[in-house]
Amino acid sequence: KLILGIDTSCDDTGVGVVELSPDGRVHVRANRVWSQTVHAQYGGVMPELASREHVERIDQIMGDALTEAGLRVTDLDAVAATSGPGLMGALLVGLMYGKGLSQALDVPFYAAHHLEGHIFAAAAEAELHAPYLALVVSGGHTHLFDVPREGEYVLVGATRDDAAGEAFDKIARLAGLGYPGGPAISEAAQRGNPDAVPFKEPLQGQKGFEFSFSGLKTAALLAHRAGARPEDLAAGFERAAVRTLVKTTVRAAQACGRQTVVVSGGVAANRALREAFGQTGLRVVFPGKGLNTDNGAMIALAGAAAITAGRPASRLDAGATAYAPLATTPPAS
Ligand code: ATP
Ligand code: FE
Repeated sequence: KLILGIDTSCDDTGVGVVELSPDGRVHVRANRVWSQTVHAQYGGVMPELASREHVERIDQIMGDALTEAGLRVTDLDAVAATSGPGLMGALLVGLMYGKGLSQALDVPFYAAHHLEGHIFAAAAEAELHAPYLALVVSGGHTHLFDVPREGEYVLVGATRDDAAGEAFDKIARLAGLGYPGGPAISEAAQRGNPDAVPFKEPLQGQKGFEFSFSGLKTAALLAHRAGARPEDLAAGFERAAVRTLVKTTVRAAQACGRQTVVVSGGVAANRALREAFGQTGLRVVFPGKGLNTDNGAMIALAGAAAITAGRPASRLDAGATAYAPLATTPPAS
């Protein structure tokens, strides 16, 4: 089965195609992303401009994705699109486009949860079966979910303040390293000394599984004012951020009794984070290249998972939701 996936939740127009084999295996046939550049001049995403850009680009990106996959639109067997969370106007563009396409082709439509997309992005790399633990580290989330059964998400911990990616972005801006901050910090860190600036491990000694990045941000600001070199800030911050993410996740995996951990979202592209997780002894699955940050293939993969699980197709009056927590079950206290 050939599934088209669309994500327009924020400032990237993503369209991907995934092939689902009868044995349940998935293969990414195409993945095209248009990253909007208009926002750079404002220093943040302008929701209204984002919606307009999606409208202008989505046709072209879909055409590119089909060309990359070597397919015609009539070859598609299902369409999936992100329904939330995200920017309302931006979400509606991809959601309505996807619904219209499914109607025109007379194929089922699946509304997908953006975070489920991030998690299922890893399913193209390695077989993914519950139970597992999922760490979503993106621009807007630092969330740890226990997944005891397919489709069931128990929130184990989250950030108290900034998301991990947000902290990378803010510290990169502070240090004058450019945007997006994640890759910029990662690159600068290789030239820096991680011991030059003291970064204290956040929430040391906590019994729970929470994250916090505001202390690291303050430490970076103070060191920057005191004249620390940007590459030293980057190296020190990256090491501290990686440590807190890995340590807390490993403790959570032990507490939940999970051997497999999915690490996904934009920050999962980080090399130091991947290396550190590689040394935990856990089975850690990351999304492949181009599937960490927002994209359409991950939404097609979420659609494929829905089909495999036998979930019914979404109704065409399913709406977009800006705020949509993924957790289906509260954590046991
Ligand atoms: P959400 O899914 O929570 O709504 P988002 O979709 O905007 O957020 P993503 O596209 O998944 O977020 O990820 C973007 C974030 O990933 C940015 O904050 C960026 O700095 C960060 N990032 C990208 N590459 C790297 C990297 N190599 N190292 C660290 N962070 C990175
Ligand atoms: Fe995202």
